[in-house]
Amino acid sequence: MKIASLDLKRQYESIREEVNNAVLEVLASQSFILGPFVESFEQKIAKYCSVRYAIGISSGTDAILLALMACGVKNGDEVITTPFTFFATAGSIVRLGAVPVFVDIDPDTYNIDVNKIAPAVNKKTKAILPVHLYGQCADMDAILEVARANGLMVVEDAAQSIGAVYKGKNAGSMGDMGCFSFYPTKNLGGYGDGGLVTTNNAELAEFIKILRVHGSKPKYYHSHIGVNGRLDAIQAAVLSVKLKYLNEWSEKRRFIASYYHEQLKRLPIRLPKIESHNTHIFHQYVIATPRRDTLMEYLKQQGIETAVYYPVPLHLQKCFDYLGYKRTDLPESEEASNETLALPIYPEITQKEQDYVIGQIKNFFLRNKS
Ligand SMILES: *Cc1c(COP(=O)(O)O)cnc(C)c1O
Repeated sequence: MKIASLDLKRQYESIREEVNNAVLEVLASQSFILGPFVESFEQKIAKYCSVRYAIGISSGTDAILLALMACGVKNGDEVITTPFTFFATAGSIVRLGAVPVFVDIDPDTYNIDVNKIAPAVNKKTKAILPVHLYGQCADMDAILEVARANGLMVVEDAAQSIGAVYKGKNAGSMGDMGCFSFYPTKNLGGYGDGGLVTTNNAELAEFIKILRVHGSKPKYYHSHIGVNGRLDAIQAAVLSVKLKYLNEWSEKRRFIASYYHEQLKRLPIRLPKIESHNTHIFHQYVIATPRRDTLMEYLKQQGIETAVYYPVPLHLQKCFDYLGYKRTDLPESEEASNETLALPIYPEITQKEQDYVIGQIKNFFLRNKS
């Protein structure tokens, strides 16, 4: 049996007519940049995320970049973040001439270890950029407490966590701003690039709106140096359709995750841990074992595609050599890079397929006892 880690065609089949019509409506309107489709999507997604303002952005990466710009992050400032994330988290910090200060992760949740944040704060620190990895929120209460005590901004990288809940609060609604990605493989994926900044702060919302149109308001009058960072209308139309199904899809992901958990819990592997105050949306279902590479190869031979998010923690990336980190500096992140493996999870995966994945993982550990 062949099993892909993700099959977007199945989802498209289930909404084909509705989404095709939505795209055709944009074509008929010939209104592609901002305008009514983007505005209507922004209103719906703000409600979904329980925030006052949602601003459609060209990508998740640009959302982080603009949010940091709106925080006033500039040359020489420091931003505290996790090294166990997608490159864009730290790349956006460096794009502004600032320095990413990496602190290690909690090995249970793979999110930033909140106890390591306060010791990393100094006079240059401007913001904290936690990531809600794999669909589970970081410990925001502790993060906000350090931020308040030190006058720091908090930007949530919620690219993988749309709809996740922490102590009754939505991902992206707790910090000064939240950043989302609509990259096609994300839980709410567009048909191209897209992103979002959320906030409850009217001034920040207005600033983000200005920054996404080259820092101008009105047009051709530039108070700031912004970027071309708009969500386009076709993406907004697609996302408006898909948003209606997001809760149902998240529920299915949770069901698939709990089935993995039941079936795999007796094997010598570490399964995802969900903090009791969190609602996980399982963007990824990630297990861990020291035999990760051989397990991955074995599954590949059985036709099962798995993935590693992420094989090199950011503090050890070649482009960040100049920051001066070395191996063993952030041991939990390094171990996670060596031992984690993401299993296929998406709302449309069938029970038969999931049973096959589970069966093959069990086979691997039966054959490779010790
Ligand atoms: C996907 C992702 C991003 C970047 O989003 P793009 O839309 O691809 O630019 C940033 N951070 C994290 C954690 C992500 O998973």
